[in-house]
Amino acid sequence: MVKSRYLKLILVSASGSRVRSLRIRKTFLGFTLCSLLLGGVLFLFFAWNYVSLQIEFEELQRLRVETSDQRQNLQRLVLDVERLQQDLASLEVSEARIRQLANLEDDRRLIPVAMGGQPDRDNLSLSEIQQQINALQIDIELRRQAQQDVRNLLNDQISISRSTPKGWPTRGWLSSYFGERKSPFNGRTVMHDGLDIAANIGTSVTATADGIIARAGYSPTYGNNLVIDHGYGYQTLYAHNSRNLVKVGQRVKRGERIAQVGNTGTSTGPHLHYEVHLNGVPINPRTFL
Ligand SMILES: [Zn+2]
Repeated sequence: MVKSRYLKLILVSASGSRVRSLRIRKTFLGFTLCSLLLGGVLFLFFAWNYVSLQIEFEELQRLRVETSDQRQNLQRLVLDVERLQQDLASLEVSEARIRQLANLEDDRRLIPVAMGGQPDRDNLSLSEIQQQINALQIDIELRRQAQQDVRNLLNDQISISRSTPKGWPTRGWLSSYFGERKSPFNGRTVMHDGLDIAANIGTSVTATADGIIARAGYSPTYGNNLVIDHGYGYQTLYAHNSRNLVKVGQRVKRGERIAQVGNTGTSTGPHLHYEVHLNGVPINPRTFL
């Protein structure tokens, strides 16, 4: 049997009345089937590509929106950083004024805060903003320390001021001054270590600075007498009292009543003998009145 190069295709209509036969070359049939298969594969390939492009396009749109949101957030962050820098700068100005008022030295540790107005603030990267925030944190920490120093120095000043004798310890008039004088008892020249303030017996004697009662007692010379230790090297003595009104160890404030004027000990009349000592040396109390 001879192998045919053709195939015969017989087509019959549904009613069976018409019959047609088609002679098709086998190679043509093979070619057609291959083409159909290839076409199907190509169609699937492009369809799949189209779908994945569509998905990627949507993703791109979403990313675009996200990027624009993030850029806005970054710009907001830059504005916040600039606002913080301005706040810090105004804090620095007010701190400088406090230092000036309190006669404190400038703190050399502080570098002036870099003010806003970035040359290209719309295009700052996250890491550049992060750097600015880090610099701000360092600046804030330095400022906190500097303000603590100012607070400590002011507290010291207030404390020194409250501990420095000031004003009259009683209401009266000066009857004897600080320095060498002739003793009213034996006529010899002696050092008078304080001021004598003449006043009526019973007049209030008040502390001239904050402190702690270091001595409260009686001596033949000073009669009833009190010593207040004020710290910072200052001590004050109140002598010839008719009565002491405080006890050793008691804390007193400036202006607080501590004794009453009297005429006890070696005294020629009712008065308060008042001494101020700095680091154990009597100094002229008049400079503190
Ligand atoms: Zn005296």
